[in-house]
Amino acid sequence: MASITQPSSASWDYAPAPESFRPEIAAEHGLFIGGAFVKPKSGKFMKVINPATEETLTRVAEAGKADVAAAVEAATKAQRKWARLPGKERAKYLFRIARRLQERAREFAVLETLNNGKPIKESRDADVPESAKHFFHHAGWCDKLRYAMPGGGEAKPVGVCGQIIPWNFPLMMAAWKIAPALACGNTCVLKPAETTPLTALRLAEIFQEVDLPPGVVNILTGGPDTGKLVAGHAGFNKIAFTGSTEVGKAIVKACAGRSVRLTMELGGKGAHIVFADAAIDQAVEGAIQGIFFNQGQVCCAGSRLLVEESIADVFRAKLLQRMQQLRVGDPMDKNTDVGAINSAQQRDQINRYVQIARTEGAEVLERCSGTIPAKGFWCKPTALAGVQPSHTVAREEIFGPVVALMTFRTVDEAIARANDSAYGLSAGVWTEKSAKMFEVARRLRAGVVWCNGFNLFDAASPFGGVKESGFGREGGRHGLLEYMAH
Ligand code: NAD
Repeated sequence: MASITQPSSASWDYAPAPESFRPEIAAEHGLFIGGAFVKPKSGKFMKVINPATEETLTRVAEAGKADVAAAVEAATKAQRKWARLPGKERAKYLFRIARRLQERAREFAVLETLNNGKPIKESRDADVPESAKHFFHHAGWCDKLRYAMPGGGEAKPVGVCGQIIPWNFPLMMAAWKIAPALACGNTCVLKPAETTPLTALRLAEIFQEVDLPPGVVNILTGGPDTGKLVAGHAGFNKIAFTGSTEVGKAIVKACAGRSVRLTMELGGKGAHIVFADAAIDQAVEGAIQGIFFNQGQVCCAGSRLLVEESIADVFRAKLLQRMQQLRVGDPMDKNTDVGAINSAQQRDQINRYVQIARTEGAEVLERCSGTIPAKGFWCKPTALAGVQPSHTVAREEIFGPVVALMTFRTVDEAIARANDSAYGLSAGVWTEKSAKMFEVARRLRAGVVWCNGFNLFDAASPFGGVKESGFGREGGRHGLLEYMAH
């Protein structure tokens, strides 16, 4: 038998596997209003870059007051007719959108990675399929809305919806907002984040391909000023916002005194609890996924890792060993686990928090493999050991690949520490004891609690927060109710 020579572990490495497909990107993008791409009345454009290379990808319009007014007018004009379509007819449009997204999945995945910096394996396996799933799921609801209504009452849309979204899951956030709104007979004006507008604009191409009636969805690119104009426009019946708690509060204030429905999907500081009786290797993997998925730029990231004291040393050693295997680098490489941070501003915020942690007495442990490119915005996966509940990094959202390690001794202490936060979006529990699992999950103040898993999503399952993580739900029947008048 021929002998096989194994390479020594020191020389062993992944072969590079860069994605070879590159979609065409126009040099300039207008606004999507009334079913067509139009030049902004503001006359303004802004650059969109690739955060992994700092290259300019394109220029997009910056919508001003007259553009917002035009989009609201188009959405208002379209709304009655769209709402009067029988549910089964609206469903056909949503099904077509979902199918075209699947057919163009590769193009969308590459575009998302180029614009956001996330690894191609994540945009390919999570963002794009999850977005298609939301359109499929809500297509199924269109002709069954009365079953979603409490008491089986008549299902009526809210009307014209202004929707403002962040940069961490640009396509997915657009799908989460648009799909339920359309299913219920509403029309939309969507404002993507300033750094990541490209997949939403490409989704508008799909709306044209499937002949979605003009004005049913309008897309306004721009920065915070455009967002303020959307939030302040009196023509909306609903404002749905996903983003930071600070901006969420500003929007609630801007809407005060108007008859406008609100949903606020805001920041988080997820507690991830690991009991000594957990399957430890699975829990380590869960902790890794919980904080390093999407470079930790996840509202529900498990950024506070609470480990039972008796296993803390072993857990820490295993966690660091696993972090050492995370490949940071070119997001277009299929082997990459941790891609680029979305902007220089975000990278600086993460670095600032790591510095604060150091000053407050935490031990900073960076681990990874791979080669960090010379250009672009990067942060190494980082664990902060010895964090106390009073430390800034235990209280504020860092929104990066940084996990704060803390310990506890009893179930009550674990719950008290987990709930000791202004936020209440997500939490995780790892234990092999199901009675303990249900007891802890019940006592955690968080909108979503995952048990023996983390970051698990389904279009049928409601997602949203409590406390400063906001109000309202997205997904499932609960998410539909947010877009129905009742
Ligand atoms: P951000 O609040 O800075 O911006 C979000 C959106 O609001 C962007 O489109 C931005 O242009 C717009 N905006 C900014 N200022 C505005 C204003 N004054 N009025 C109206 N619009 C304005 O948030 P971000 O940095 O883009 O995203 C990160 C934040 O989003 C994190 O806090 C994260 O936790 C949160 N987030 C929450 C969820 C959730 O479901 N709860 C999901 C994803 C992200």
